[in-house]
Amino acid sequence: MKKIIVAIDGFSSSGKSTMAKELARTANYIYVDTGAMYRAVALHAIRNGWMTENEIDTIALEKHLHEISIKFRTNTEGKTETYLNNKNVEKEIRTLEVGNAASRISTLPFVRRELVRQQQEMGKNKGIVMDGRDIGTVVFPGAELKLFVTASPEVRAKRRLLELEEKGTKDSYAEVLANIVERDERDVNRDESPLRKADDAIEIDNSNLTPEEQRELLWKLFSEKAIITNND
Ligand code: C5P
Repeated sequence: MKKIIVAIDGFSSSGKSTMAKELARTANYIYVDTGAMYRAVALHAIRNGWMTENEIDTIALEKHLHEISIKFRTNTEGKTETYLNNKNVEKEIRTLEVGNAASRISTLPFVRRELVRQQQEMGKNKGIVMDGRDIGTVVFPGAELKLFVTASPEVRAKRRLLELEEKGTKDSYAEVLANIVERDERDVNRDESPLRKADDAIEIDNSNLTPEEQRELLWKLFSEKAIITNND
């Protein structure tokens, strides 16, 4: 099978990263969580005082952006973890606060330009599953397989709450739902690379799919594309 690029886009907490990770593991592909990259930039901006709840110092951020290095490494349990300037920040970037900051920072064109450049570099040899908001539309418009994952805001809020509880945070369902709705709105309405389904993406609404059903569907779609590409 020839290696292909799989682009998975969708709303926050739609389950796209679970899908992407599983597919990458099964296909023996590289997995890249582009949301983690925006989160890492946001964490760095918060830590350096370039970003508060109300403002972003875009001049300082743009000036220092090239000093930010984001890498992914696999831990001993086989899970991918995010490194910011060689320090493991996987736990810190997963909070609601950083998620919200990432959503704001991702509206800045100069941030998107730089992260898109890095993402394209990561995928230049194919054999990659990348998830985000603009992968099928901007980062890899020529990706062989494009998926657009959706689920209702309520289903997504319940999933997100479970994840946050497992990590020991105590946000309420109402807070998590409000945060999801707010981030959806920002993702869809921003000027720069708004979230939208690419014309040739396959839409998967997983509100009522079991993990097993989802896995089967994904593998079927992947195998079809990988084999077709091989016979080109
Ligand atoms: O996917 P995740 O929720 O971790 O992403 C964090 C934020 O980064 C999102 O709210 C979204 O606004 C932004 N993002 C983006 N483009 C991507 C990936 C994430 O704008 N490719």
